[in-house]
Amino acid sequence: MSRHFAVFGTPIAHSLSPRIHAAFARQTGIALDYVAIEAGHDDFAMHLAAFADNGGHGANVTLPLKESAFALCSNTSERALRAGAVNTLLRDGDGWRGDNTDGAGLLRDLTQRNGLDLRGRRTLMLGAGGAARGIAPTLLDAGIDALYIVNRTAQNADALADLLGDPKRVHARYLDDLPALGEFDLIVNATSATRGGELPHLPMSMVGRRTAAVDLSYGEAAIPFLAWARANRCHDAIDGLGMLVEQAAGSFEVWHGVRPDTDLVYADLRAHTDSLVTAD
Ligand code: NDP
Repeated sequence: MSRHFAVFGTPIAHSLSPRIHAAFARQTGIALDYVAIEAGHDDFAMHLAAFADNGGHGANVTLPLKESAFALCSNTSERALRAGAVNTLLRDGDGWRGDNTDGAGLLRDLTQRNGLDLRGRRTLMLGAGGAARGIAPTLLDAGIDALYIVNRTAQNADALADLLGDPKRVHARYLDDLPALGEFDLIVNATSATRGGELPHLPMSMVGRRTAAVDLSYGEAAIPFLAWARANRCHDAIDGLGMLVEQAAGSFEVWHGVRPDTDLVYADLRAHTDSLVTAD
């Protein structure tokens, strides 16, 4: 009998998650159905409750709902607690258990697929939303040096810096401070700004000899930041497609206890990458 899964967010129509989980299901022989459900801040709780009433077993949560999902959980994993954000829900009695596979997904993609050593890297993270919350603890655990968080709304950067509780390494700064911050070895775009074609002004002075520029977006939304990275001769320019597949594999493991192989699924999506619209 198939178990029911879904991804919630907005906009969600172009989400690749149903396609990725269907591929994992075929590979592992696990019966499941997985659908995309459009939900925003106002109606997420209602849609999630209806999904549970209809036998929903697990769900992914994407933009802009990861912090709301955290608030709805009856219990969470340690990594979700540290992030204050949830991308994976598992039915647990009458409630939901929250987990967060974004950080582990990014780490796998950067270190295993792209061969980066993150240790000692002076890091800039643009953004302080649900995705930024998910990846920041993992980057710190992976041994990055300092973590500078810069966000359009300064209070959100401050709140994330406070949550991370590592004042020696974590610093919230304003966008206007960027020209004075010096070089970074790792620059992560964890904003959704480029979905609207916008990219905050990023000074060239941030780029050093080994700078890796990483956009959590993929497809069209990743073009502006990766174009900036290449024009400014960053050593690496990496989009979020690999992270997308790896965080999905992490959710699959939470739900089914089996880690699927990601390489074939990633290669299939990569072959069509230019036509993809970021939706996860
Ligand atoms: P949220 O809505 O939770 O946060 C959005 C972030 O982007 C906030 O920091 C927000 O700043 C900032 N932002 C939005 N618009 C602008 C703008 N015009 N200029 C500057 N900053 C802006 O989204 P998520 O954190 O969940 O997602 C962020 C991105 O990461 C998305 O593109 C998403 O697709 C991608 N992502 C990719 C994943 C993957 O597996 N590859 C996984 C998770 C996310 P403010 O606080 O001021 O509102």
